[in-house]
Amino acid sequence: MTRQTLIAGNWKMNGDSQFIGELMSDIKGRLDSDWQHQILVSVPSLYLTKVKELAADTNIAVGAQNLSQQSNGAFTGEISGSMLADVNCQYVLVGHSERRSLYGESSTIVAEKYQAALDNDVVPVLCIGETLEEREAGTTMTIVKGQLDAVIEKSGIESIAQGVIAYEPVWAIGTGKTATPEQAQEVHAEIRAHLAQFDVDVAEQTQILYGGSMNPTNAEQLLAQADIDGGLIGGASLKAEQFIAICKAAG
Ligand code: PEP
Repeated sequence: MTRQTLIAGNWKMNGDSQFIGELMSDIKGRLDSDWQHQILVSVPSLYLTKVKELAADTNIAVGAQNLSQQSNGAFTGEISGSMLADVNCQYVLVGHSERRSLYGESSTIVAEKYQAALDNDVVPVLCIGETLEEREAGTTMTIVKGQLDAVIEKSGIESIAQGVIAYEPVWAIGTGKTATPEQAQEVHAEIRAHLAQFDVDVAEQTQILYGGSMNPTNAEQLLAQADIDGGLIGGASLKAEQFIAICKAAG
């Protein structure tokens, strides 16, 4: 089967109303009307409604960058899956490496968040990946499989096909160091093989994005790999020219 290509931006904690208005209008101005691939922008939650309005006349999907694993209650500062659904947020990043490393999100918490998104019909984008030390120690696949298995154990293998996986080597995020197409393809293929041990159809259907310093220069080769179904793009997604160039590199 052919999996659709998804090009996803992660704006992180950047921008303000004016910047976001200009970025969205620049993105829309550069998009061809016969655009085939899926495009997603993951925005600060405060601006979800604004970006939804700005994207209303396009097929750009809008997502959040985090959600609470709780459904409601005394959790000051948190945002629930049902709140995301209420403002028609379509996707949510779960377990981004910055959430794991800076906010102490364990794979168990990430799995709870993944389920909370599914419970509210918001598509979770599960971010997984190894640090440089883990790669150098030869434990990349142990780490990545462990992060995946936490979700499979909690929500079942079928839940993986209801979300999206983003393989993001931590050492490549925001560093300008990209995995080579061969390095990325190798891990993507192993992730798919791991999923296939549970369910061949899920393995075939699941979109696996690459993330980590993707830019207009390296995108074409990365996106040409058999098991790379799109990209999760941080820095370059804040510049419409670069983001759209990456979209176009997907062919
Ligand atoms: C990210 O934050 O998910 C990411 C891949 O960032 P960057 O593209 O800046 O490396």
